[in-house]
Amino acid sequence: MLLIHPPVAKPGEPPAGIPRLAACLRAHGLPCTLLDASLEGLLYLLEGKRKPTDTWSIRAERNLKRNLAAIRTPELYTNQDRYQGLVRELNRVVEQSARAHGETELQLSLGNYQELGCSPLKSGELLAAARNHRGNLYFPYFQQRLRQLCDRHHFSRVGFSLNYLSQANTTFAMIGFLRSHYPELSIILGGGLITSWMSHPNWEDPFSRLVDHCIAGPGEQPLLALFGRQLSCSAPPDYSDLPLEHYLSPGLTLPYAASSGCYWNRCSFCPEEAEGNPYCPTDLTTIRRDLAHCCQTLRPSLLHFLDNALSPALMRSLITRPPGVPWYGFARVDHNLADPAFCRQLKAAGCVMLKLGLESGNQQVLDAMGKGISLELISATLRALEQAGIASYVYLLFGTPSETLSQARDTLEFTAKHHSAITFLNLAIFNMPLLGRDADRVESSQWSEDDLSLYRDFTHPLGWSRKKIRTFLDREFKRHPLIAPILHRDPPLFTSNHAPFFSQGFSLP
Ligand code: SF4
Repeated sequence: MLLIHPPVAKPGEPPAGIPRLAACLRAHGLPCTLLDASLEGLLYLLEGKRKPTDTWSIRAERNLKRNLAAIRTPELYTNQDRYQGLVRELNRVVEQSARAHGETELQLSLGNYQELGCSPLKSGELLAAARNHRGNLYFPYFQQRLRQLCDRHHFSRVGFSLNYLSQANTTFAMIGFLRSHYPELSIILGGGLITSWMSHPNWEDPFSRLVDHCIAGPGEQPLLALFGRQLSCSAPPDYSDLPLEHYLSPGLTLPYAASSGCYWNRCSFCPEEAEGNPYCPTDLTTIRRDLAHCCQTLRPSLLHFLDNALSPALMRSLITRPPGVPWYGFARVDHNLADPAFCRQLKAAGCVMLKLGLESGNQQVLDAMGKGISLELISATLRALEQAGIASYVYLLFGTPSETLSQARDTLEFTAKHHSAITFLNLAIFNMPLLGRDADRVESSQWSEDDLSLYRDFTHPLGWSRKKIRTFLDREFKRHPLIAPILHRDPPLFTSNHAPFFSQGFSLP
């Protein structure tokens, strides 16, 4: 079986899904091959010919080889301005690759692929992407690579791990190619995005003529079932097929999911809650075995926990048995994190950064969202992390149904007051989940014709429209003298994936 991570996903670290599936298949005696087509496709594009005309693009092209080498060295991450300039130059070359393509108008960056007139939210347009696969930017790469792999290994099945909208167009183009040239192959589609699509109660598989099996949720058991096997053992993720030295980071970042779903699962705006994904933590013994194996064999520079929220039990386990490698991930504000001694222990266990969904600096808004946290607890958590020397990557959400301008200003004040404890900031405008609790309480409708959209259009009940929010963010929030420097610090394009490399006390070997 061939397992593919399709373009485009950020190239800072290997994918987590296909190594986990590979480990499971191999542990059950089923051979498989992994392909990170996202990274390979990017490197293929960068080797291609472009004809830059403006000064910036010409300079970016001239510096390409040097920049590609530098982004993989620790030195670059000691100089934030140089890093930011270099990432923008690299991205400039990627954008120019899209222009050189010429056949379809598309927006391309290090983390995004969007064909104009081919929306990943419309099943009809994805089916068209499969039919017109020759028009895809990555066609020259994937036709050559898929032929090479399929002709050598004679696979019976090919699985795609589709997690982001930016992967959808090319996933379907690759499927279209395989369907025309290898019609005997069984095509399987899984991953986070498919899981979200399939969670809709009205899901009627629009891809049934193209894709043999769509799998929602963890893929191990359903994949084994396709081979007539049952899950009888587990094994640490197997990254052995992936080009680990080629990712665009100063050392290997290893992603690891210690759970799926969320142990809190009560935030009204959250897709996890809306999609009804169950919380499935991996047991602590298995996590310890996996981390020990991966850290010993692969010697990563950084562990990236992919959990929606690291459970207190997992954090305590990491304190007791540190993985021996710096690590970061999402955590939920709670009384443990508000305890300075606990945060010092986390720091000693290798924690360099925690991502925190604070969402709002107004208590009523937090309560209406079901966050289950108080401003006092958030404040104590930020201070405890700051004292311990753990960086915070803070997520704020504007425009939830109960928020007004006045409450958004509370968030501004709260952020400014805690500016020294907030290392990085992400600002987002609320999207109404299609299936969320709030959807029934406000005037809303599904975005027309977007049959795969996970969100719905809604009229804000208090008149706090997206336009007004953008104006507030641009004119007030982002310009605040204590907040602007935090926003400026955010690594462009790679954002939280590279942020730990800039955290206090982080050192690469
Ligand atoms: S804590 Fe995070 S993942 Fe969990 S329900 Fe809330 S927003 Fe969703």
